[in-house]
Amino acid sequence: MSYTFEIYIADGQEHFLHGPAGHIKHTHYPLSQSVLEWMELDVKPIYDITERLQTDLQQLATEKIKRLEKPIMEGLALLNSYHPYFAYLRLEWTERLKQARQQAYVNMENMLASDELIQLPKTLEKTQKQLRVLWNDVLDVDVADEPIQGKLSRFYTASSNSSPRFAFGSLQLRYALMEEGTFTEVLKVRSLLDMPDFFVRECLRRELPFRICKNCGRYFVLSRNKNAEYCERPFAIPTKTCKEIGALNQWERKKADSPALKAYTREYKRRFAWIRYGKTTEDIFYQWAELAKLNRDACLRGEITVEAFLEWLKMDM
Ligand SMILES: [Zn+2]
Repeated sequence: MSYTFEIYIADGQEHFLHGPAGHIKHTHYPLSQSVLEWMELDVKPIYDITERLQTDLQQLATEKIKRLEKPIMEGLALLNSYHPYFAYLRLEWTERLKQARQQAYVNMENMLASDELIQLPKTLEKTQKQLRVLWNDVLDVDVADEPIQGKLSRFYTASSNSSPRFAFGSLQLRYALMEEGTFTEVLKVRSLLDMPDFFVRECLRRELPFRICKNCGRYFVLSRNKNAEYCERPFAIPTKTCKEIGALNQWERKKADSPALKAYTREYKRRFAWIRYGKTTEDIFYQWAELAKLNRDACLRGEITVEAFLEWLKMDM
């Protein structure tokens, strides 16, 4: 084999060493991030890409022409853009295609039969279900606040439990000194599922606390702030994270309760009614409303006191 795909944990980070010999890349993410993303990954595009890959692979198997490798490599690169674990499939298939080419693509049919790549979307959906149940029953701090080992053994032994349970496999590990200066277990990835398996064990071993984000509904790890209610993923508007949106929502809630806003709303309605009674004109009213809004916001920002604002509201204009 002429490529490396290894993962390990050091300094609270997931590390990935991957690439063809001589071009090994090192990427890292916060611990649990890749497995959470795997759990939440949208399967729809994965179905589309693997379906097309299957067609392309079969075409190559039939026609045995080198240029037909190109769309396959593009499909694998596209797949990789959805999740870092797919980098493994990309490397593995680059290697397989190289071997197939050397043998004039004669044994490609065997290579494709029940392959991991073809089974991928189904496997993904299945593990997603298993992981969600595991997260809910064992790793979610809001479900039952008790030691993880107790929850875990009950989860795996309860005969009444008919929910899909994640099956741990056997992993090929070595224990080595890595460049972070830490001796740690290093996983040699031999199948896609080795990766969630490896990281899930670590989440359990470290008893990491997880919670469902109040904004996006996805799990996130509670790191510094154990009371956090929002994750820090980018949400919808890519420049805002759930945490920032959560802070905004909280500000909106606090603002709605503030005496300045209540007084403003009351006064606005009162003066708006004056237009109908001919006590004021629309022009005068809207001029007042503009100024009132400026003063209200200054008050909400703490630039003028609530008392001063209430006084101002009483003034005639
Ligand atoms: Zn979120």
